Amino acid sequence: MPQKTKGTPMMEQYLDMKKEYPDAFLLYRVGDFYEMFYDDAVKGSQILELTLTSRNKKADESIPMCGVPHHAIQSYIDILVDKGYKVAICDQLENPKEAVGMVKRGITRIVTPGTIMDESANQATENNYITGISYAKNRFGLSYADLSTGEVKVTSINNMTDLINELQNLNTKETVVLEGFPQKYLDPMKRIGILVSTIEELDDNFTYDFSKVVEELQVSSVKTLISYLIQTQMRSLDHLKAAETYQTTAYLRMDHNAQSNLELFKNIRTNKKSGTLLWLLDSTQTAMGGRLLKQWLSRPLLDEKNLKSRQHIVQVFLDNYFQRSSFQDYLTKVYDLERLSGRVAYGTVNGRDLIQLKTSLEQVPKIKEILLDISDDELSAYVNNIDECQDVYELIDKAIVDDAPISITGGGLIKDGYNPQLDQYNDATKNGKKWIAELQAQEQEVTGINNLKIGYNKVFGYYIEVTRSNVDKVPEGRYERKQTLTNAERYITPELKEKETLILEAQEKSQVLEYHLFDEVRKTIKEQISRLQSLANILSRLDVLQSFAVVSETYHYVKPTFVSKHELKVVNGRHPVVEKVLSNNSYIPNDVTFDNSTDVLLITGPNMSGKSTYMRQLALTVIMAQMGCFVPAESAKLPVFDHIFTRIGAADDLISGDSTFMVEMREANDALKNATDNSLIIFDEIGRGTATYDGMALAQAIIEYIDKNVHAMTMFSTHYHELTDLEGQLSGVKNVHVDASEENGTLVFLHKVLPGPADKSYGIHVAKLAGLPDQVLTRADFILSNLEAEGTEKIQPVKDDEPMAVSEPKLEPEVKAPTKSDEEQLSLFPEDDPEVLKAKEVAE
Ligand code: ADP
Repeated sequence: MPQKTKGTPMMEQYLDMKKEYPDAFLLYRVGDFYEMFYDDAVKGSQILELTLTSRNKKADESIPMCGVPHHAIQSYIDILVDKGYKVAICDQLENPKEAVGMVKRGITRIVTPGTIMDESANQATENNYITGISYAKNRFGLSYADLSTGEVKVTSINNMTDLINELQNLNTKETVVLEGFPQKYLDPMKRIGILVSTIEELDDNFTYDFSKVVEELQVSSVKTLISYLIQTQMRSLDHLKAAETYQTTAYLRMDHNAQSNLELFKNIRTNKKSGTLLWLLDSTQTAMGGRLLKQWLSRPLLDEKNLKSRQHIVQVFLDNYFQRSSFQDYLTKVYDLERLSGRVAYGTVNGRDLIQLKTSLEQVPKIKEILLDISDDELSAYVNNIDECQDVYELIDKAIVDDAPISITGGGLIKDGYNPQLDQYNDATKNGKKWIAELQAQEQEVTGINNLKIGYNKVFGYYIEVTRSNVDKVPEGRYERKQTLTNAERYITPELKEKETLILEAQEKSQVLEYHLFDEVRKTIKEQISRLQSLANILSRLDVLQSFAVVSETYHYVKPTFVSKHELKVVNGRHPVVEKVLSNNSYIPNDVTFDNSTDVLLITGPNMSGKSTYMRQLALTVIMAQMGCFVPAESAKLPVFDHIFTRIGAADDLISGDSTFMVEMREANDALKNATDNSLIIFDEIGRGTATYDGMALAQAIIEYIDKNVHAMTMFSTHYHELTDLEGQLSGVKNVHVDASEENGTLVFLHKVLPGPADKSYGIHVAKLAGLPDQVLTRADFILSNLEAEGTEKIQPVKDDEPMAVSEPKLEPEVKAPTKSDEEQLSLFPEDDPEVLKAKEVAE
């Protein structure tokens, strides 16, 4: 921005303010407009499609300027914040008419992507998390908060990859760091679209409870975050809950790619919720239940005791249909208690919000009663803990009218009988209005003007209106003429004005008093916020659990059992989302079995046969089981997994800009390095991103490594038929294939998973079905059989003058003798190879 030294007092005031908020769009109130100047105006006019004008046009330095009308400001703020910018709102702090000299102005609000509290319906089930990061000795403290619900959590993270992952999983739009935070760590965050805000110093002058946070690194991350919130929000943050620590390793871990490949929250093709696991599982009745479900889905549990207790409640809800459906009916009348509490603390709550709060609280005793009616000890213990907060209910019921207006300054909020003084004012207003109505009748009679009427407007107050044709009947001297209209004259009388003063005074006083009383109610409720938050917490948990029951009942899921051995058996399992989308029960169920000695299931079968679905099916089953939900199967016995690794599909890597193959290898590396024998690995056609032999070699080496060192349960789909030979050579590898058959020249996908490897010639088979020329098919078949016979020998291309076909295509499945000679057989473990051992000895 140009350094202005001399200017008008207003521009000087502007520049002083802008200096404080260099990284925000400054919207500066002038009259009925909010104006932007200089660079803000240039950039803002482009983004908001406004006309760019200038101030001081004639002077040497004209100042770029653009503005928006004050009543429309919110929509412009929303656009800027949605695009990742910050906006500082500068208001006039005194009435310009009464100001002596420059109007006093000040920043009243700073809106940022991480602190915006979007009220729109589709945001209701989304948390908007702002994060704070601290750094010391190659470790990071990470805290996050949702300003609308008051949730605050903190953890420590050991490396940048995990940090980025956590930021992506939280879907944070803004992160706050203290000045001096290493720039190199900020760049990757910016690249994935996170706005990084920097604060100059920590604010130590606030009361906030971080007594549960011990580690220095975590304390500084929470302090960074809270300091920023105080600086930007400029109002009470009393609803922020005490910071709680968490460990990313205390949950079933999935990195961001895994979550997105498994389509937990977003459909990869449409980017929408529809078609995802969240979509399937969401039968919650409240917005807070919806948010909690999302949190549970991103952090499935490891603790078997907690899991079993969730499962138990789901079972109870399944067994008690009547009570469950009444409970659901009551829940539909429960509004967003978390966000309502937030607004109470924040001072943005209005009368309608309080009525929503009242309606919600009205349901609580009924909810308690119906749930206790179930008489299950565990559920009852839980339900008995519910604090009904009926004192808050009664306060609102006594004070606030049921059809409260949105505005809290215009009166009409407080019930009759709540406050004697207010009742008096209201009586005065009411009596005055009655008096005026009576006056109209009286004047009509006295003057004989039947259509004489008494009206009111803001400029003249109460007046008597007489149509032009009756003007001659107006009593001289008693009526004073005030206004002439085309068809009528308006008059006032001294007694009318006297009454008017009384009415208006009473009205004004009652509005002021109502605002005051409302504020008192709000403050009283604010004292109870932590109780309301606990209530919200219990209700949202119960909401998610009833949702699990509904989904489990609708789709016939079964309660999984957990085993502590390296064993897994899912009988007739299904992919829950594909099953739901497919019509008329056409999903083919499949078993998945890992016995004690199996580490790798090697899955072969034609494209489109269902390999990928089969693998995803297991991953989703595991996630559902570890959320406490029932699973899509006839029976399921699973270990509690610690981590799910995936390599599925082609993922763009926004952070590093690496090629797909590089990403593939990095993901493989991540799994091989970090998986334990309690992990689940899903590798979909690893190695296909490079040349065949190259890819095959890598795939085989990876399988060997898992079998020998990692022992994670691994599902590995592949088109490298050669790999199926590994069964029998490696004790942990088992072949399965997805069946397909030919009927009348069409390949029919049976989607049935069977033991053993797939038939190998399906590639050419599919090509035939696709209608490729016979010559190509026959030739391909010939090359294939030669390759199989001769190992890696290259097939000479047919000369230009030779016919292409050598023999009829052999498309029937056939059993071939082992193709590789003993010498060619790749040694599974090179280090066991005598040659290698010898070389090692020499080296040592
Ligand atoms: P692959 O990974 O072998 O190429 P996919 O897993 O992508 O195949 O499956 C292809 C399609 O087949 C899926 O979109 C799905 O509609 C269908 N499908 C897969 N498995 C089943 C099944 N068990 N029952 C019914 N349809 C299935």
